[in-house]
Amino acid sequence: DDLRRAARDHPDRRATVVWHTDGRDTETLTYAELERRVERIAAGLAGLGVEHGDVVTLQLPNSWQLLATTLACARIGAVAGPVLPIMRKRELTFMTSLTKSPVYIGPVEHRGFSHADLSEEVAREVASIRHRILVGVTETGTALDFDTALLGEPGTDGAFFGDIEGREAKPDDLAYVMFTSGTTGEPKGVMHSHNTLHATNRMQIDALHLGDGEVTAMGSPTTHNAGWTWNFTMPLLLGATCVHIDNWDADVMLRILEEERVSFFMGAPPFLVDLIDRQRTEKRDLSALKTFATGSAPIPPVLVEQARDVLGCRLYALWGMTENGAPTITRPEDPEMRAAESDGSPVPGMEIRVVDEDGALVEDGATGRLQVRGATQCLGYFGRPEVYQDNLAEDGWFDTGDLARADGHGGIRIAGRDKDVISRGGEKVPVVEVEAALLRHPAIKDVAVVAYPDDRLGERACAVIVPQGEPPELPALREHLDGLGMAKQYWPERVEHVGELPTTPSGKVQKFRLREQLVS
Ligand code: ATP
Ligand code: MG
Repeated sequence: DDLRRAARDHPDRRATVVWHTDGRDTETLTYAELERRVERIAAGLAGLGVEHGDVVTLQLPNSWQLLATTLACARIGAVAGPVLPIMRKRELTFMTSLTKSPVYIGPVEHRGFSHADLSEEVAREVASIRHRILVGVTETGTALDFDTALLGEPGTDGAFFGDIEGREAKPDDLAYVMFTSGTTGEPKGVMHSHNTLHATNRMQIDALHLGDGEVTAMGSPTTHNAGWTWNFTMPLLLGATCVHIDNWDADVMLRILEEERVSFFMGAPPFLVDLIDRQRTEKRDLSALKTFATGSAPIPPVLVEQARDVLGCRLYALWGMTENGAPTITRPEDPEMRAAESDGSPVPGMEIRVVDEDGALVEDGATGRLQVRGATQCLGYFGRPEVYQDNLAEDGWFDTGDLARADGHGGIRIAGRDKDVISRGGEKVPVVEVEAALLRHPAIKDVAVVAYPDDRLGERACAVIVPQGEPPELPALREHLDGLGMAKQYWPERVEHVGELPTTPSGKVQKFRLREQLVS
């Protein structure tokens, strides 16, 4: 509905612009053009026999095809099943078996990897997949060509058409199944309805005071929760313009920020680090950039300072998870609310509470489990109702698995994940703070503090460091933390140097992998 209205009200405004990092020309679609393609693709999917409630697997890189096909699914009551392009056979088999998806849509290849071969292998194992549709094929083999099957003129060989009359999804229907990042283990297929998605988008608009003149951009894949809500559904609901890059490249992104006059950028801390780093030498004109929103992982205070100095924009901190859309908690740039003390407060429409193991509210300043409820909360986990049920408190609040401290002003400070806690002889190490303190050391580019087993204390803290320059050893770390006034029992007692930290495609450190490496 929103797209139809935008196509009527301002048909010639740019809906989306796609930049390619391999030198191909930039692609632009106006609202009218996008609307026409959505209609056409919806009829194509209907012609292929896609039914109400079917999950259409979309393993597409950032592209207009991803946007248009997702919107087309809604026109026939089908469900979008976004999957990150980087997922391989194991993950794709797991996801499509779970959702019993009848259709796979992907690029013929992306970053030198053949999704034609991948999808063929997966389709052999997952019986539900009846059609594979590839973007950019000339030789189709057993797959269909996206342009021919879903965009071809009526009567053309291989073009599919079906009736879409009266098939549009209702507000409470399932809109998409989005998998969590897999930071803590097996990803969960989070189910959102059109209503919960709409509530998420409204909140984003209100919380960050965004308008329809916005030009948005983002570093991460659109097939992840943050990209999906911030750089696709939210700008289109606004009638604004979203700019996409098909591969992360900080230099190209700086050009985009300058040339497209991007006003709003969302990116997890690693993207922010890259941009700050490059802008220091590039010095591009970023005067259009008003707001930078970051989150998805802990935000070191030192980064907030650098963003202001180097990028010259306001920095919003966000906390959210796939299960409750984004963002649930925001912290606007506010000199009163020091970044080190608070991650912000809930957006209107969402409630939060911090409780102890028995479900009782904790005192301000004490650490407990963060629970949430509100309009953007998902419907559950696809095919795993029992796992979702396990995360619900008796009174229906959703337990996030994150630990937090009430800041005494209605807001909270995220203290990390319950699974990442380091319990040193019963004493909890404030992991997020130790990491933030270590990041202030000039020879530390990146760091994760994780537990390693210890006979006497149960667990001790190890700092896994990505060094810049001379790799710092334990005595140097101790001296540094001592200088910052950090209590001795929190200092890491082991140090490992690595080239990079294992992260999910959305930029989160997979600490469970580091823990495994520390014991092997
Ligand atoms: P999985 O559930 O599969 O292990 P995941 O929890 O990383 O993966 P997402 O839904 O993408 O999957 O991420 C939500 C989590 O990201 C939150 O539970 C929280 O731990 C972390 N997070 C998000 N924003 C912030 C933030 N501002 N500060 C600290 N952590 C954050
Ligand atoms: Mg999670």
